Amino acid sequence: MTQPLTIALSKGRILKETLPLLEAAGIVPAEDIFSSRKLIFDTNQDHVKLVVIRATDVPTYVEYGGADMGISGKDVLLEHGGEGLYEPLDLEIACCKLMTAGLVKAAPVKGRLRIATKFVNLTREYFARQGLQVDIIKLYGAMELAPIMGLADQIVDIVDTGNTLRANGLEPLELIAPISSRLVVGQASMKMKYDLIQPIVDSMAQAVVARRGA
Ligand code: AMP
Repeated sequence: MTQPLTIALSKGRILKETLPLLEAAGIVPAEDIFSSRKLIFDTNQDHVKLVVIRATDVPTYVEYGGADMGISGKDVLLEHGGEGLYEPLDLEIACCKLMTAGLVKAAPVKGRLRIATKFVNLTREYFARQGLQVDIIKLYGAMELAPIMGLADQIVDIVDTGNTLRANGLEPLELIAPISSRLVVGQASMKMKYDLIQPIVDSMAQAVVARRGA
């Protein structure tokens, strides 16, 4: 019997772009993911299941083998640290930038910078690499508000069009990393289910290249 295989997908904005890539690997959900409140979905392949979870939980599920592979934003992977994961493929979807941002024409800060973000780990690392110690303030949403309310000097956040920053009187400052969604595979699963997983990686890689030309 074929071994079971579980793929973790991120709920939300990247799910729609993810499904055609899975389909290219011959995996199609058995029902409409968007109109269901289920968390686990059967597919056209008896041994393959999909779990649809919060984006930030995908690397954790894959790291601990709760799912064999998954699709996750590079921002989430940088914050997670990537332990126990292989990252064999850049899916080139949900492209955006991880940036620092501050109030337009903000006066230079004396002393330690205060940075508001939900990306606590990668922010600490980014500033540490530059030899800067900063105070990090963890927020769960609406980072843009923090400089306006005097809670922080800068933020670290995802920037796509820049409209959210502009609408709140902020400007992008430094690029921390370009972001896109990545295919991740658990290191243990890759060893134990290589024959199942590698063809999926290959088919998705072909679909990514085909999309580039389209
Ligand atoms: P924008 O106004 O187009 O710069 O979009 C910025 C906001 O949209 C950010 O605050 C993010 O929360 C969200 N966002 C945009 N693109 C992505 C993405 N690819 N992944 C996650 N969040 C995103």
